[in-house]
Amino acid sequence: MILETAGIHHITAFARNPQDNVNFYAGVLGLRLVKKTVNFDATEVYHLYFGDQSGNPGTVITFFPYPNYRRGEIGGGQVGITAFAVPPGSLDFWEKRLNSFGITPTKAIRFQQSYLQFCDNEGLQLEIVEREEGLNSSWSFGGIPADKAIKGLGGAVLFSVNAEKTIHVLENVLGLKKLGVDAGYARFQSPAAIGNLIDVALEDKQRGHGGAGTVHHIAWRAKDFQEHEEWHRKVTACGFAPTQILDRKYFKALYFREDGGILFEIATDPPGFARDEAPDALGQKLMLPEWFEPLRGQIEDNLPQIEVKTPDGDKG
Ligand code: ZN
Repeated sequence: MILETAGIHHITAFARNPQDNVNFYAGVLGLRLVKKTVNFDATEVYHLYFGDQSGNPGTVITFFPYPNYRRGEIGGGQVGITAFAVPPGSLDFWEKRLNSFGITPTKAIRFQQSYLQFCDNEGLQLEIVEREEGLNSSWSFGGIPADKAIKGLGGAVLFSVNAEKTIHVLENVLGLKKLGVDAGYARFQSPAAIGNLIDVALEDKQRGHGGAGTVHHIAWRAKDFQEHEEWHRKVTACGFAPTQILDRKYFKALYFREDGGILFEIATDPPGFARDEAPDALGQKLMLPEWFEPLRGQIEDNLPQIEVKTPDGDKG
């Protein structure tokens, strides 16, 4: 059986102040905070998930906001740029919106597509691109009309310390198809309508350093638990040493580091974020896995309060 990933499941990055993180991703970018939980390996730190109205696979960016973390350095062995897809005809809206929050994006063109490039409040490199394909998000916040809202991830630009090896993994392990080369980037496509265009910088990059403002890992989709076990076997057979399959509550996960230095995860589409909250109440309460419930009081006491709003205080 040939395994190929549908595309990006989520991207996870580091931040510092959790309220600033919510202000930016929910407030400025208008994504929905679909889950407020803790880092399962460090419960004094939030794990915040942002996405479309349901946090569908391919729309999700997640953060570990470590308040006193060092600033990282973007470089080889990381996702260098995270791209968000918006509906056709909305790039001017986004440029004005970013300007209104004091952000001046620069413009770039790759593969005949126009990108607005900018950084989040910690220096994480982002871009916005118009895409025909992919469903519009039905989530609307902070004065962003639903027909201009971010649909989800448009893709990512990978910075590798060994681009040739990273490309080998994309094609031969993940099953992505090469579309072409332009201006120093090779482009790969996966079958999903969102989170489906991956560019690799062809020039090997100097290794970056993890910290606030950098991506920790990129997760690729497995359609169900059975396929996930097949992915574990395939990744092992391809010569990598994946972690065991871990229960991340909203998906199952396995991780391996590819030879270009980037941490890859494979995550299951099910069960999703409505597993422990009603779809219309996602992200409102601190959700903990069963094994941390007995410690809820202590965990809550150690976390700062956060609320969904824009940097200007707009809560609607
Ligand atoms: Zn992950």
